[in-house]
Amino acid sequence: MELITTKNILKKAQEGHYAIGAFNVENMEMVMAVISAAEEMNAPVIMQTTPSTVKYAGLDYFLANVKVAASRASVPVVMHLDHGSSFDLAAQALRAGYTSIMIDGSHESFEDNIAVSKAVVDMCKPSGVAVEAELGKVGGKEDDLDGGEGDAYTDPQEAREFVERTGVDSLAIAIGTAHGMYKGEPKLDLERLSEIREVVSVPLVLHGGSGIPDSKVQEAINRGICKVNYATELRIAFTHGVNEYLKSNPNEIDPKKYNKAGLEEVKKFVKEKIQVCGCQNKA
Ligand SMILES: [Zn+2]
Repeated sequence: MELITTKNILKKAQEGHYAIGAFNVENMEMVMAVISAAEEMNAPVIMQTTPSTVKYAGLDYFLANVKVAASRASVPVVMHLDHGSSFDLAAQALRAGYTSIMIDGSHESFEDNIAVSKAVVDMCKPSGVAVEAELGKVGGKEDDLDGGEGDAYTDPQEAREFVERTGVDSLAIAIGTAHGMYKGEPKLDLERLSEIREVVSVPLVLHGGSGIPDSKVQEAINRGICKVNYATELRIAFTHGVNEYLKSNPNEIDPKKYNKAGLEEVKKFVKEKIQVCGCQNKA
C-alpha cells in the first residue's frame, strides 16, 4: 500500500476508543520488524524518526526504507517526523514525502509555539499531511532531545486555545510521562488528561510510552489518548537481541545473522504494544 497520513486512522481510533502504536525506527531491521509485527496483528502502524535519526542518514534514506516496507504490506503505514525541531525541518520532511509531521514548539513560549505550529499547519494543509504539535513539556532525554525535568504539565484551557488557534490535527500533551526509561514508577496525571479531553476535540498523543506499565497506558487510552509513542524500548530490544546472539556466537561476522536476532526482539515487543494499544485487527 501507499503511505497514508495519520488523520483518518487517528480519528477512527478516537471513535473506537483505541490507540495507534507509533514506533521509532533507526535502521532497516527495525523497519522490517515493525512492519512484520503490524502485518501479523493486522494493525495500522506509524513509523517515525527523530531529528537525530534524520541527521544520521537523511530523511530520504529512512523514507525509502519505510516506503518499500509499506508497498509490500497489507496494512496502512504512516511515515511521521517525530519532534520536528524547526519549521525548516518540517518543510524538508514534507518535501521529501513524509506523510505526517510533528512540530515541537513546546520549548518556546505559548505564543511562539502557536506561531510555529500554525505556520506548519498552513504549509501542510494543501497536501493533506496531518500535523501533530506539543503543548507542555514531556521530560527526560531521548537522543539530543532534552525535555529536562518536564514539570510543565499541559494546562487544559491553554490546550483548548492552542488547538483552536493553530488548527493542528493532533496534540501531544504532558501529563507526567518522560522520554527514555523511568527511574521509579512514573506518575501519570490521568485526571488532567480527562480534563484536557473534555475541552479539546482532536486526537491526543502520549509521548514517552517506554516503561509505563501497560495498564496505565490502557487507562490513558480509555481517557482519550489515540497515539502512543514507543522509542527507547525498541532500542533496548534490538540491542538485547544482537548482544545475546553474539554471546552465543562470538565468531559470527555476518551482520544479517545478528541483526536478524535484533529484528526478532523488536518484532516481539511491537506485537505486544499493538495489543496494549488495542489496534490489532483495525487495519
Ligand atoms: Zn516524544
